[in-house]
Order: sequence, then structure tokens, then C-alpha cells
Amino acid sequence: MTQTADHHTDVPHADDPRLGEALKVALDGPYHEARQRARDTLDPAVMLRDPAMPMAEAREWTKNALVSLAAQGWGNAGYPVNGAAGDPAAAVMSFEAISHGDLSLTIKCGVQFGLWGGAIAGLGTPDQVAEWLPDVVAARHFGCFAMTEYGHGSDVQNIETTLTYDAATDEIVVHSPTPSATKTYIGNAAEHGQSAAVFGQLWVDGTCHGVHCAIVPIRDRELAPGHQKAAVRPGVTLGDNGHKGGLLGVDNGTISFDQVRIPRSYLLSRYGGIDDSGAYVSDISSMNKRFFTMLGTLVRGRVCVGAGAAAAARRALSIATRYALKRRQFPAPDGDGAVLLLDYRWHQRRLLPAIAESYALGFANNELVELLVQCQTTDVSEGLQRSLESRAAGLKAAQSRFANDVIQVCREACGGAGYMSENYLTLLRQDVDIFATFEGDNTVLMQLVAKGLLLGYREQWTGLDRRETITKTADLVGRMLMERTSARALIDALATAARRKGLEASVLDRGWQILMFEERERHVLESLAARVRNASKAPQGSKFEAINALQDHMLAAAKVHTDNLILEAFVAGIEQCQDQHAKQILGKLCDLYAVSNLEADRAWFLEHNFITDGRSKSLKRVCNTLCAELRPDALAIVEGLGIPADWLGSQMLND
Ligand SMILES: Cc1cc2nc3c(=O)[nH]c(=O)nc-3n(C[C@H](O)[C@H](O)[C@H](O)COP(=O)(O)OP(=O)(O)OC[C@H]3O[C@@H](n4cnc5c(N)ncnc54)[C@H](O)[C@@H]3O)c2cc1C
Repeated sequence: MTQTADHHTDVPHADDPRLGEALKVALDGPYHEARQRARDTLDPAVMLRDPAMPMAEAREWTKNALVSLAAQGWGNAGYPVNGAAGDPAAAVMSFEAISHGDLSLTIKCGVQFGLWGGAIAGLGTPDQVAEWLPDVVAARHFGCFAMTEYGHGSDVQNIETTLTYDAATDEIVVHSPTPSATKTYIGNAAEHGQSAAVFGQLWVDGTCHGVHCAIVPIRDRELAPGHQKAAVRPGVTLGDNGHKGGLLGVDNGTISFDQVRIPRSYLLSRYGGIDDSGAYVSDISSMNKRFFTMLGTLVRGRVCVGAGAAAAARRALSIATRYALKRRQFPAPDGDGAVLLLDYRWHQRRLLPAIAESYALGFANNELVELLVQCQTTDVSEGLQRSLESRAAGLKAAQSRFANDVIQVCREACGGAGYMSENYLTLLRQDVDIFATFEGDNTVLMQLVAKGLLLGYREQWTGLDRRETITKTADLVGRMLMERTSARALIDALATAARRKGLEASVLDRGWQILMFEERERHVLESLAARVRNASKAPQGSKFEAINALQDHMLAAAKVHTDNLILEAFVAGIEQCQDQHAKQILGKLCDLYAVSNLEADRAWFLEHNFITDGRSKSLKRVCNTLCAELRPDALAIVEGLGIPADWLGSQMLND
């Protein structure tokens, strides 16, 4: 069955034992084999940490679990082995799989293998990678990714740490010139890190060449006789960030440097280095471009964090839905026992649209990983690389926002039991919180997305009047849509048919749903482009105020653009599904995702005359109907989210 405007046929009911598996295969998409391998091989013993463990014990447990994963080869995932090319998808799949369990372990692995290892692999020369990486992925050399400073978190370009080349000794001097240059929140810094990939401004012969990264030893790698802890290296001061709002198993800390000397060869020099004559050399002449190219190589971390947040949300939804399928409250009217929680309409409304969104995000994440693989394994245009960075930013923000909201909903949906630590929802909620901030604060990332969307217009604005700007904007939006998804032809055909039908199109017409998402994006972007164009004409002194006044509009543009990408990916994912029953259920889940998204934004659609009062009311009605229709298959649908039952660890599901 292909998706059509009238795809909404009756769905056979809940007696298909293969449905959960078929949904899982569809959602796993091109990465089914890799994901299934992870499900089959990840040791459940490292998936669940006792939530009552105090911080010191949690740090030790997490470190030991990481070492055991490294011994099984998990640290290697994604990196070149024995001359074979690296596989970026394997890195994301491995991070995602571990995220179904303890998030401290996930982040500790992310710091060690993804950030510390990733800085070396992404910013080092082939010789540097060969020298440093093997010990990192084997967890023989613990390290940090030291970018953030007290004074500069989101604004990385202006960090203060200096890396100054001393030609007399052929060394680099690493220094924190002010207290605000102290590195902070750095994973592995408080206890286990032996070296750090330190970001700072590189100075050579009196000239600053912008942000670069160098490997700096911070602790001795061998214990001195009779000592329990490794000695801190001379000139390095380390601190402990102490107890946090979550992720207690990760030892975050501070690092500052007082004229610490390292060999020139410790400067990671893939994009810029110092040659034997002591001169700065780089293939990229623009400092700005070099900075963004360097950050671009680290995009995998952002993709991983988004995927990890989405996995945590899936776990919470799996726990809450399974609980709602066994917990009963209040007698049934026919006197036959009590009513199951999931038979209450509001309970369905809390959980099922969120599950539908989880599927939507899963398909969008698969597309993002495919793009990551394409950009990191082949020569691609600058435009495609930019599109990867923008998608990674938008989806990381969408997934971590979703996870934060939905885990709280799941906690409440389980009542008092949900508040008991043994059921893991409170630990998940604490641990996922910071996913909204690290690897790029969500607000800052959404601004990046909006700026990317506007970039294409900028050159065209000069000399255009308002009408011309709008026409050009429409052309550009159209072109961006064209580039986006594999199911483009189908999406266009459905939207065109719905446009022809006008008011006759049903709320359940996939074409109408697509059209509404597209029109919303087009309208928000067009009006933003026109406003930015006016603001950019403001006199120099008031330009900041003029642009700053548009910040809410920028964020709205990024959000509706990302929502549109997510819906398109869902439509494309359904197209790939081979199992007819799974395809029908996915169709209904996609309806529920689209209609509940439109329902949440119906004020905007009414204000802009895209829908009538009657249609606005029908959105709510249709959401209720879809929930009732999906309810009989709820268990299979959460099985399709792909988390093995023995990874959930929630005591209330066993009672
Ligand atoms: C547990 C944990 C682990 C971490 N691990 C590491 C690590 O290993 N290595 C590392 O280098 N860093 C790490 N970080 C740091 C993390 O990356 C930063 O916290 C993050 O980049 C945000 O920086 P900030 O905390 O300085 O917040 P700020 O940049 O000060 O932001 C504070 C608030 O201001 C808002 N804001 C900022 N700029 C703007 C703007 N232009 N417009 C509108 N709003 C704005 C943000 O949205 C945010 O709400 C970690 C942080 C934590 C908490």
C-alpha cells in the first residue's frame, strides 16, 4: 500500500503477534541490523545503575562500566579499524543503544570516545590520530573535551584560554589569563581524566589565528608508589563541580592552566598548525571559515546527543505505557473489575500522541544519520555540509525538548509509583535535563537553524523591493524543500492534490497535513525574511536592537522548519515499510503526529486564516478518535519503539 490522500482505511485489531517486530524493523529503517546487534549484545548488567547510589560510588560504577564496554569493543564504534574507513553511523548507533540504559554511562562514553576521541579524530592529522586514538578507544588513556569556560559557554569563538607558540623552545604555552578563562563543567576532569583536548586562541609570532585545540596532559598516567590518586601535572589546577542535578556518575570539573608547556606536536593540526620553521600554516585562509570548519567536524556529538535524548524518551514512554496496560483504577461500569489506565481517554491523549512523535523523531533521526554518513564519508558541497549542521542543530533541540517534556508526563502518568526511584523515571528525568544545554544550548541552536534558513536570501535582498523579496523567498523555500527528502515526489503530489481540493480536503488527508506544515513554514519564513531585511537597514548603532526584536520570530521559523522536516521524514519512512499491517499503523501514528501538532498550533492557523473555526474544532475530535483507534495496539506500538523489556528495569512492571 502506498500513502494516498485517502489512506485511512480500517485497521485490523490487536491480534497480530508480529506487529511489534514489524514496527520495530520499520522504525529502525536502514540501521535495523546495527540496532538489533546492539540489542542482542549489550550486557544488561551495564544498562542499569542502582538509582540510590551515592555520587562517589556512581562515578566508580560508571567508570568500570565504561572500561567493560571498551573491552568489548564499543569504544571503537565509528572509528577506522585496521585501515578500514570509519563508519559514522556505527558511532551514533552505539551511543543510542547505550542511551537506552544509564545516561551517566552514556555521557561518560560520549566524553571519552565521542568528544575526547572525536577531537583527536576530527582535528588531528593522520599521524596524530594513529598515535593517540588507539589508547583512547581502549579506555587506556582517559581524557576530557575542554571547550567551555566560566566566561564563555555558548559563545565559543571568544574563549580566553591561550595557546602561544614559543619558537625558542619549539613548545606551546597553555594559559588561562583570567579567572573567567577557567574551563568548567568538563566531563572526566574531576577524577579520571589524564589529558584534555583544550580549546584556546592560537598565537604564533604575535598573531592570533583563532580557536584551535591541543592535547594537554593534566594528570600523570601512572600512579606514584603508595598513592591512590594520580598526581596533577605542574601548572594545572583541577577542581570538582561536585553534586549536580543529574548524571551523578560523570565527574565534571574545572581546569585552569598557568603557563603549561606542551610539545608543538600536541597541537591538533588537521586544519591549522605550525611548521618546522615556526610559521603558522593552514589550507583555510579565513579565520572564521576555519573556526566553523573545525566545529563542523564535531557535529557527530550533536547528532549523538539528540539521538540519546530521543532514546531516553522512548524508554520513559515504554515504561509508562506498559504500566498503563496493567494498572487499574475505579470500578468498571459493567462491574467487571476495574478500568485499565490506558482505557481512560485522557491517559491515551497523554501517551499516544507522544509515542507518535517518538516515531516521527525516529524516522527524522534516521535521515539525519544518512546525511551524516554522506557528509563524512564522501566529498560533499559546502551547502550539503551546512544543511547537515542545521538539521543536527534543529533535531538535537527538538529531541531534547521533547524528552524533557515527555519524561515528566510519563512520571505523572504512573502516579506515585512513577515517583519511586526503583522505577527509573525520576532518574531519567534528572539525567536528561541537561541534554537541552550541552552540545549546544537549544535556544542558541535554533537561532543557528534560523540563520541558516535566512542565509540564502541575504545576497538577493540588495536592491529588491518588498514584492520581489517575497517572490524570491518563495522560490528559495521551494528549492530548499526540493532538496530535503527521498519521498519528495510523493510529498509534492499529495500536497498539490490537497491544494486543489481546498476546503474539501479532510483533516486525515496526508496531503492536507503536509500542505499545512509547508504553508506554515513558508509564511513564517517569508514574514521573517521581510522583517530581517528591514532591520538590516537600521543605522549601525541600533542594528542590534532591530535584529534582537525579531528573536521570537527567528525561533518560531526554526521550529516550524524542523517540524516540517520531521513530518516529511515520517512520510518517507512509511514509504519504505514492507509490512502492510505495520504500514497501516504507521499511517495512523503519522496522522496522530500531524494532527496533534496542528491542534497545538491552531491559534496560529486561525489567526492566519488557514483553517476555519469548524476545522479547528475537528482537529481535537480527530486526535481523540485516533487515540481510540490506536489503543488496542498500544503494546505492539511500544514494542516497536525497540527497547527490550529487560532493559527497562522498572520494578512496578514486575510487581
Ligand atoms: C553536566 C554538564 C556537562 C558538560 N560537559 C562539558 C564538557 O565535557 N566539555 C565542555 O566543553 N563543556 C561541557 N559542558 C558545558 C556546556 O556545553 C555549556 O553549559 C553550554 O554550552 C552552555 O553554556 P553556558 O552554560 O555558559 O550557558 P550560557 O551560554 O551562559 O547560556 C545561558 C542561557 O542564556 C541563553 N542564551 C545564551 N546566548 C543567547 C543568545 N544569543 N540569545 C538568546 N539566549 C541566549 C541560553 O539559551 C541559556 O538559556 C557541560 C555542561 C554541563 C552542565
